[in-house]
Amino acid sequence: MTDLTRAVSLLTIDVDAVVANWRRLSSLIAPCEAAAVVKADCYGLGVDHIAPALALAGCRSFFVATVDEGIQLRHLVPQAMIYVLSGPVSGSEGDFAAHRLVPVLNSLAQITGWAAFAKFGSAAPASAFHIDTGMNRLGLEEHELERLVGKPDVLTAVRPILAMSHLACSDDDGSPMNEAQLATFRRLTAMLPAMPLSLAASGGIFLGRAYRFDMTRPGAALYGLNPAPGKPNPMSQVVRLQGKILQVRDVDSPQSVGYGASHRVARKGKIATVAVGYADGWFRSLGNRGFGFIEGIKVPLVGRVSMDLTTFDVTDVPTHLVHPGTMMDLIGSNHGVDDVAAEAGTIGYEVLTALGRRHHRRWLSSAKGGPSA
Ligand SMILES: *Cc1c(COP(=O)(O)O)cnc(C)c1O
Repeated sequence: MTDLTRAVSLLTIDVDAVVANWRRLSSLIAPCEAAAVVKADCYGLGVDHIAPALALAGCRSFFVATVDEGIQLRHLVPQAMIYVLSGPVSGSEGDFAAHRLVPVLNSLAQITGWAAFAKFGSAAPASAFHIDTGMNRLGLEEHELERLVGKPDVLTAVRPILAMSHLACSDDDGSPMNEAQLATFRRLTAMLPAMPLSLAASGGIFLGRAYRFDMTRPGAALYGLNPAPGKPNPMSQVVRLQGKILQVRDVDSPQSVGYGASHRVARKGKIATVAVGYADGWFRSLGNRGFGFIEGIKVPLVGRVSMDLTTFDVTDVPTHLVHPGTMMDLIGSNHGVDDVAAEAGTIGYEVLTALGRRHHRRWLSSAKGGPSA
């Protein structure tokens, strides 16, 4: 607890809220399976704390981006299916086998490579196919599928247990790209032997039943981001970020605040300096655009964001609420990750994955008997 006393910034991650979000999606889409995408350390929020809690809640399938993430996750969820989205890079096949990681095979080259390995070592895990339906990033193209279906021995050797694709515009339910990709996915998977199918991530789930197939792969929605922008967020907020006020100073016109003197003081007032900056993932683009909250009162960010410090105009906050040591809410229930992202000119995914290493981190989890620091 001494840690929290000396903390100048505190990041609270509500693991129970992540679990509640997974349960909500899971019951919404049943009997379709809800996997959990836990890549990039659960979008920066701590896979060690979150993945075991999801497994305990009944989540059976997890997706990571890299084989390293898969190996780390295997120790946390010994029983679960772990899919590795990048697939095997040549030479890493043994790691997949040793840690029972399911490679997502993204090209005919990856498939034939895996088939050769699978024939050679009998302990090779099953695999998944990623089919490109319009993203043009990863995945098998139609001409590769045509060649693949002409190689039944290869198809048998790699033991596919899932065929998946990924939507490019699922955050926009009016985009014609969604239906086009859905149709392409149906057409291309029909070329393959029957197997479970997966198309939707967080956004796709909310495009409707047709997009859900046998398994969905939510990430962002689990961590509280709005899967259906423009509509009220159905997910629970997971993250709270607080920064400590180090100083409060009186200012008056014609003074300025911060680097570049970008904020000119227009009236007699008060500036609070908070111990969070761009080195903490508090984006520099929030300069003169962001907000904080003190006891629910909104305060504008003024001046530029520095590496370790940010300044706020607290003139309108009652004096007894603003003094050195007060924690200001930067991300929280009345100012979510998506709001901060909009102010910073980015998306919630980037705000989450940028959350800095300097914040003291606290995970709230009833499964572990209360808060753990
Ligand atoms: C990251 C990722 C997901 C999860 O997407 P969200 O929008 O965070 O739900 C699902 N599938 C693939 C292939 C991904 O790369």
